[in-house]
Amino acid sequence: MATNGVHNAKEETHTTSQRYLSTRGDDYDCSFEEVVLKGLASDGGLYIPEHIPQASSWQSWKDLSFPDLALEVMSLYISPAEIPRSDLKKIIDTSYSTFRAPETTPLVHLTDNIHLLELFHGPTFAFKDVALQFLGNLFEYFLVRKNEGKTGRDRHHLTVVGATSGDTGSAAIYGLRGKKDVSVFIMFPTGRVSPVQEAQMTTVLDKNVHCLSVDGTFDDCQDIVKAMFGDEDANKNLKLGAVNSINWARILAQIVYYFHSYFALAKSNAEFKLGDQVRFVVPTGNFGDILAGYFAKRMGLPIERLVIATNENDILDRFWKTGKYEKQVAKEPATVGGLAEDGAQAHPDGVKETLSPAMDILVSSNFERLLWFLAYEFAETAKMDTEWNKKQAGQEVSKWLKDLKTTGSFGPVYQDVLKSAKRDFESERVTDEQTLETIKDTYQKLKYVLDPHSAVGIAATQRSTERNDKSLQHISLSTAHPAKFSGAVEMALKEEKEFDFAKQVLPTEFIGLEQQEKRVTTAPNDFKHVRELVKKQVDEELKALGY
Ligand SMILES: *Cc1c(COP(=O)(O)O)cnc(C)c1O
Repeated sequence: MATNGVHNAKEETHTTSQRYLSTRGDDYDCSFEEVVLKGLASDGGLYIPEHIPQASSWQSWKDLSFPDLALEVMSLYISPAEIPRSDLKKIIDTSYSTFRAPETTPLVHLTDNIHLLELFHGPTFAFKDVALQFLGNLFEYFLVRKNEGKTGRDRHHLTVVGATSGDTGSAAIYGLRGKKDVSVFIMFPTGRVSPVQEAQMTTVLDKNVHCLSVDGTFDDCQDIVKAMFGDEDANKNLKLGAVNSINWARILAQIVYYFHSYFALAKSNAEFKLGDQVRFVVPTGNFGDILAGYFAKRMGLPIERLVIATNENDILDRFWKTGKYEKQVAKEPATVGGLAEDGAQAHPDGVKETLSPAMDILVSSNFERLLWFLAYEFAETAKMDTEWNKKQAGQEVSKWLKDLKTTGSFGPVYQDVLKSAKRDFESERVTDEQTLETIKDTYQKLKYVLDPHSAVGIAATQRSTERNDKSLQHISLSTAHPAKFSGAVEMALKEEKEFDFAKQVLPTEFIGLEQQEKRVTTAPNDFKHVRELVKKQVDEELKALGY
């Protein structure tokens, strides 16, 4: 870490070196590789880049394909000394070759000022593929390099463990299947994930993929994962890795589609010129997807504002309205096990089960990253140097998160902090009833079938267009294919006579999926039992490889 902050800031604009630090300040000067393989920082914080690079020539990227654009964006965050450009290109090209749409993430025109960014054309039909296809290849790249010249048990073998209530598990499995030197264990609560989601996980027969059906709730699965990471025996015998949305590489991969869709809009709309402002609306749970938009904006993409669209689990919406970040207290009878996933903290007393389960969270883990930038901006007003500001920001974030842990809330934050947050973001809360209404209305008017998460986004988008000038273009992110959430879609469209789910929605990939051969191990809700099971299966896997 440089000692002279002012000098350092100058230097950064002239080199492509990029280092990472933790939001809590005690872990810094980390390489991209460390950040990706570790996931969570050693002080409990999340990794962020030491500086946000400026994309000064972003307009020249207009005609690039998705993978070529990804190469430009990611090169600004990964030093060529760490991954040579030609290697990065190969990793990216491999990652997006699995997408069905030629544009990777196509932009669909809905109305004069509303466009839908379809992010679900990857292997598991949800937006998480955009990041996890990349992360899987990145893990493999780093491991192959670490293991050069090593044989047998000397090899660095990564064991990824994760808990899921649906989307993350299948996207992680498809990202890691068949990868060298990686085993993946995904735990899900028995009988509590949808049949399609379960089949997507258990029908992957690659030897390095292990599905554990745990006799418990999603929270129990999450607790087992946490216990594994904190356990001496597990850490002695396994090299553990994480794929939940706290991994920086996932945010990085998601920055690309903000640029890509902006260019797609400019190409399809003669009145829209490069440099014009656009508004993005993002169905939000753990704040990972929308945080990528914040980075795009800070890099220089003309984003007027980012609109957070939450369901009834509205901790973020309440923060933007009050400046106080507070866990929800259950008003209704507690739901049995929150459906939150992906590193979110779920608690049966606070999480409400909604029709958009991938957004059912009590606390948004990636929000901590935004908090750091807000705290940094606030520290800057004291006119000290960069290093002092960074230290202040880390201390402020640590304090907020400590309050949250001990009292269930923090804030209200300083007015100036909330003001900065409002400059870049707005928020909307959408109920289940409004979600169903939006699916129905969009189908009736446009014959387009939205999944419930994307419908939360469109409901928020409509409110935004009503308040703003008609010429302000909106890009609303669509995070899942409607066939993944057939229950909500059929509920919304049950009165539409000509609507036929099998004909209009169901992709051929899903037909017969549930009847295919499956591999899954059942496990009791017992951490030690799961730990021994994981150790045994990794051992067998290594033996089968001749190690
Ligand atoms: C994970 C997920 C989200 C929420 O994304 P975050 O990055 O957690 O905000 C929204 N929709 C779907 C379908 C998802 O799988």
